[in-house]
Amino acid sequence: MDFLKKVSEGAKSLGEGAKTIGKKSSDLVESTKLKFEISKREKEVENNISALGNLVYLQFKGEKEHEEEIQRLLNTTKELEEEIASLEDQVEKLNPKPPACPKCNTELPPAAKFCMNCGEKIAEEEQN
Ligand SMILES: [Zn+2]
Repeated sequence: MDFLKKVSEGAKSLGEGAKTIGKKSSDLVESTKLKFEISKREKEVENNISALGNLVYLQFKGEKEHEEEIQRLLNTTKELEEEIASLEDQVEKLNPKPPACPKCNTELPPAAKFCMNCGEKIAEEEQN
């Protein structure tokens, strides 16, 4: 019985399976995953900011030994924000925003030529 071999092979194919699933997962699953990652980081940012507030206040009251921790938190928070921005980019690529009326902001079907709410003419191929 090459039980050990089987186990390690099982683990290997499991890892590969996870990779394949990652690749094949629908955009919806992917964007849900990304949104989860975003909210995780947003929580961290929130925690960091409130910790920063505390530390800055302690510093203000005369405790000088927090400078290093403050710098560390500032840097990680900024990194987190950059990660969030790039994750949001990825989400947006997965779910391109439907066109919206430039006048009243009503969401429109992709091929709409006129706004169904206010009748504004929709310029074609003009996004952003
Ligand atoms: Zn409109």
